[in-house]
Amino acid sequence: MSKFALAVDVGATKVAIATIGEDFSVHQKQEVLTRADNGAQLWSSIEKVIQEFLKSESGTLIGIGVASAGPLNILNGTLSPVNIPIWRDFPIIDHLKKMSGDKKVVLHGDALALAHAEHRIGAGRGLKNMLGMVVSTGIGGGLILDGKVFRGETGNSCYIGHHSINFEGRMCACGRRGCVEAYASGPQMVAIAHENGWNPNLDSFIDLAQSAREGNAVAIDAISQGTRALSIGIVNFVGTLDINHVVIGGGVAQAGEIFWNPLQKHIKTESKAIGFLKDVHLHKAELQRDAGVLGAALAVLN
Ligand SMILES: [Zn+2]
Repeated sequence: MSKFALAVDVGATKVAIATIGEDFSVHQKQEVLTRADNGAQLWSSIEKVIQEFLKSESGTLIGIGVASAGPLNILNGTLSPVNIPIWRDFPIIDHLKKMSGDKKVVLHGDALALAHAEHRIGAGRGLKNMLGMVVSTGIGGGLILDGKVFRGETGNSCYIGHHSINFEGRMCACGRRGCVEAYASGPQMVAIAHENGWNPNLDSFIDLAQSAREGNAVAIDAISQGTRALSIGIVNFVGTLDINHVVIGGGVAQAGEIFWNPLQKHIKTESKAIGFLKDVHLHKAELQRDAGVLGAALAVLN
């Protein structure tokens, strides 16, 4: 009898649900938008998809892996994603255990899940130490140390998007000032461009990247500021740990050279003063859209 894992990947704007085989093949996948009136309603839409998936799979369910935007708490199995305000201390593990007949349920941060997937089957294969990052609506990190995922005490290790690089800086959604995310997430780069007079009729990072490619100075500057903030965050982090491989995925990182060129340049400048960081290697994530659910599934497939 074949075996499979159920994967639940909770992002800022959508929750992806998938069933995944032991060979890492994605059997079924569906997304539920997080825009709901309340937390219970959002959960019930997710529950419906899971029930359908479990009904149509013929193999044995090994367990359920959950990857989520932070913060989360692995000690009591709850989520409080910054960008999903209708879920605070949401007991997702309890819910999933109940509906699966007490199967093994493991919760990972979304960026840790991405790091795990990229390390196992993507751009980080064979690396001993690496920082995996998601640069998208939010910014998160996941750490592989000595070939193993490092979760931290509560599952929030590598909360890199919300470390401050400027104590009098921009206000962040998390309540702190000067977070990396307050400059370098897609929506924040767009907000900075708007503050500086960029076309108010355009509002996505895809538009901003295109505008920068066309030579718009305000768009170029917003991306330069964002990638500079990101590079300071990365260099602080890899310098603290003395590691030198970084795998970056997420929507913003898919913009191509308009994002990667300034990022590489700023990384070089920011790491120059740290003698042992001669060579910070930036790798593009390879797994793209399925990285989240694959990373979630890996938590129980291993
Ligand atoms: Zn923050």
